[in-house]
Amino acid sequence: MEGTAADADVIIVGAGPTGLMLAGELRLGGASVIVTERLAQPTGQSRGLGFTARAMEVFDQRGLLPRFGQGETLEISPLGHFGGVQFDYTVLPGAHFGARGIPQNQTEAVLEDWARELGVDIRRGWDFLDLSDGYLDGDGVEITVSTPDGVQQLRAAYLVGADGGQSSVRKAAGFDFPGTAATRAMFLADVTGCALRPRFLGERQPNGMVMAAPLAEGVDRIIVCPDGTPARGRDAEPVTFAEVAAAWQHITGEDISGGGAEWVSYFTDAARQATEYRRGRVLLVGDAAHIHLPAGGQGLSTGVQDAVNLGWKLAAVVTGTAPDGLLDTYHGERHPVGQRLLMNTSAQGTVFLGGAEADPLRALFSELIAHDEVKRHLAGIVSGLDIAYDFGEGGHPLQGLRLADRALVTADGEETGTTRLLHPGRGVLLDLADSPALRAAAAGWGHRVDVTTATAKPLDGADPLHGTAALLVRPDGHVAWAGDSIEELTDALRRWFGDAR
Ligand SMILES: Cc1cc2nc3c(=O)[nH]c(=O)nc-3n(C[C@H](O)[C@H](O)[C@H](O)COP(=O)(O)OP(=O)(O)OC[C@H]3O[C@@H](n4cnc5c(N)ncnc54)[C@H](O)[C@@H]3O)c2cc1C
Repeated sequence: MEGTAADADVIIVGAGPTGLMLAGELRLGGASVIVTERLAQPTGQSRGLGFTARAMEVFDQRGLLPRFGQGETLEISPLGHFGGVQFDYTVLPGAHFGARGIPQNQTEAVLEDWARELGVDIRRGWDFLDLSDGYLDGDGVEITVSTPDGVQQLRAAYLVGADGGQSSVRKAAGFDFPGTAATRAMFLADVTGCALRPRFLGERQPNGMVMAAPLAEGVDRIIVCPDGTPARGRDAEPVTFAEVAAAWQHITGEDISGGGAEWVSYFTDAARQATEYRRGRVLLVGDAAHIHLPAGGQGLSTGVQDAVNLGWKLAAVVTGTAPDGLLDTYHGERHPVGQRLLMNTSAQGTVFLGGAEADPLRALFSELIAHDEVKRHLAGIVSGLDIAYDFGEGGHPLQGLRLADRALVTADGEETGTTRLLHPGRGVLLDLADSPALRAAAAGWGHRVDVTTATAKPLDGADPLHGTAALLVRPDGHVAWAGDSIEELTDALRRWFGDAR
């Protein structure tokens, strides 16, 4: 690539929720971005019907929640389940089962509008075909794309595969994707005219499991998991409504064949994860990096959080402000999160989908979930609120955790909040001790980090910020450092934001 002009700093393949979120984050960090998307038009399919508590916080950190139409009153479900066993997630402070009833096509439309406003170049009908050699040790990547005007080459410093579970980027760049193969086929459909009784948590019958939830007037989302239905090959005929209706009748005895479907699809229990999230100048995010059973609605949300972890780091690399090793922390932090995602969705599948042989497991699970400590643990996993990045030994108890939203009053008397301070996607030094020395220490990082002096509004219960002089928060909302030591603060600024200017 030497001597050849790049078309953008970063090329992202795939304009699903993960690719679009990443594109916006990269623009906030000052990188130029091209997104190539195979589909000429969005699918319009409802797919993932919402997002988890942490994904909701992440959208809030960029001021995106009001775009989902209901602003701060977005409907959230305190009651959720783990493997079909219901419990109240609010046993963990700030946790809930997530925002529900928001079809994935709406989430994608919100993110696409935002990304375009930020100046992302989204090219629809552009299908990634291949990658030239040199991405492991060269100074850039070159890809071949099929476009409406013929085959073209594009060049960039980095390439990100956000192209879903069948990722062509993953295959072209030689990533390993081990895991367990699909053992069974399950169907989902948005059916019309079937007048179904809701089964929000799923209902087990001798022949399998079904779920049903109203989506809109006269439209229901159904999930049908017949026992013993083998996974079908990738080249098999598309699923039909007749097939779904037959499976529904086999399990429930109800005949819905007189109704219709807005769309039908099928999924499996395959669970795989890339062993590396980065190979040279190619990175993977979202379903391209991990696939799993859609239990608890965590896929889109995890992808969006992969994007928010990677975006500011990759932007810092291409704009020349990143400290050494920053980009590799993406794999270091997000690969363990992906492992826990596969672990918890597989465990849920065993409890949820197993036949009569899993009855004792379900009974034991119900007993365990009666304990608050177990509820807190499971709610932490599924909501994404328990994510604690490992920044090394020692440090403040908040280090590595996400900073929960907290109401603040600034030194100028303005009411704000920790989440609001993250809207620009920059680092934040929150000075809670009105300390000129701490502020002066951060002055050299003004190009990357905003400094706010404020007091935190009192809480009813225990205050995690009690006695904390200052916090350094990364653009993704995780606490990089907390304390009062100027030396420690300077180290943390250098570690996450590079050299002072
Ligand atoms: C039944 C079901 C329910 C679910 N419910 C939830 C839920 O409630 N909450 C949740 O968080 N998640 C849920 N999920 C999971 C969620 O749908 C996925 O995890 C999510 O779509 C992943 O987003 P992504 O952007 O990583 O990949 P995708 O959404 O798959 O996007 C990839 C994009 O890349 C494009 N592409 C592919 N190949 C190429 C190529 N060669 N060149 C250019 N473009 C290409 C595709 O056209 C696509 O637009 C559910 C999934 C299923 C099946």
